[in-house]
Amino acid sequence: MRRAAFVYEEAQSRHVLREDHVLQPNRLQLTYELLQCYGAFEDSLLVAPKAAEEDKLLSFHTADYVAAVKSLSRGEGHVDAAAYNFSDEGDNPPYEGMYEVSATAVGASLLAAELVADGQVDVAFNISGGLHHAAPNYASGFCVFNDAVIAILSLVNRGLKVAYVDIDAHHGDGVQDAFYASDRVLNISFHEWGRYLFPGSGEVREIGVGAGTGYSVNLPFFPFTDDQVYLWAFTEVVPPLVQRFKPDILVTQLGCDTHYLDPLTHFMLTTEGYTGVIKELKRLVPKWIALGGGGYEMGVVARAWTLAYGVMAEHDWPDEIPSAFQERYGLKRLRDQAELIIDTKMREQARPFAEGGVEEIKRVVFPLHGL
Ligand SMILES: [Zn+2]
Repeated sequence: MRRAAFVYEEAQSRHVLREDHVLQPNRLQLTYELLQCYGAFEDSLLVAPKAAEEDKLLSFHTADYVAAVKSLSRGEGHVDAAAYNFSDEGDNPPYEGMYEVSATAVGASLLAAELVADGQVDVAFNISGGLHHAAPNYASGFCVFNDAVIAILSLVNRGLKVAYVDIDAHHGDGVQDAFYASDRVLNISFHEWGRYLFPGSGEVREIGVGAGTGYSVNLPFFPFTDDQVYLWAFTEVVPPLVQRFKPDILVTQLGCDTHYLDPLTHFMLTTEGYTGVIKELKRLVPKWIALGGGGYEMGVVARAWTLAYGVMAEHDWPDEIPSAFQERYGLKRLRDQAELIIDTKMREQARPFAEGGVEEIKRVVFPLHGL
């Protein structure tokens, strides 16, 4: 049986970015409560994180950015928020307690990395992490500190080889940039094509530089890509590259904003396709650190990450949601029931677009790894 840990505490979900902001931290609490109702923590570890120390934040972020986040978090007016990409009306509003919440998300990913690297568990899931857009000196795409980069750095500094696989609907630009010249991290991102979705990067031709050439792998998808096309592309690209790279440890960003109900993106995945990808990830490497990420439909987030943790901890949760949770939140079924009807015109574009991308990766990237 696989030993699993879930890194979370309720304090991580009480803040509000802004009343009308699409990212609602309460989605983390909903996920935790759903797992709790399924009895997920009876035979797996539930661990509370601590805020990361400042020196850990400084392993990636600049000193003046860390100081600015701290000041903005306390409501101090002297900081030029716009210089760090914060604004009250935009994607990244400063809010009270922002520093503590963001540093705790980093601390949770570092703890997950430590638990797995030390061999205390086989897999650890930090649903508050996966903040893959944050840059060294500015916030981006709802991300303040880049917990993924900092956790990967902690592993690389232990001499470990890391494969990072990012299945969020948005390109994992912050993580890619951090390791673009490195051959110690194999960085694979699957995402909606940048022409239609933030942050705009993530073309197949972004393959890394110098020693890192061939170690950044990007597959953009056309809007309306469904389970079938996504899973096909995943199995064509990810297992061969990861197996050849032979990582010591796998880090994944498990954003579930590829779901058809997500309000920000244009994918057509269901919980079936999402769970299929998680099962493929599980087969890749025995040591696995899973991070959260995007997901903007509350019920979908709770269901998708509950299913993901079920794969990690080897539990096949019953489809009928426990009555206590049903009564509280009205969700009845864990898995999507409906057969999706996708416009055939859209589907006609999504499949060849994915096939073209996969073909290009095989032509450009695979030979760099002797494949
Ligand atoms: Zn996303």
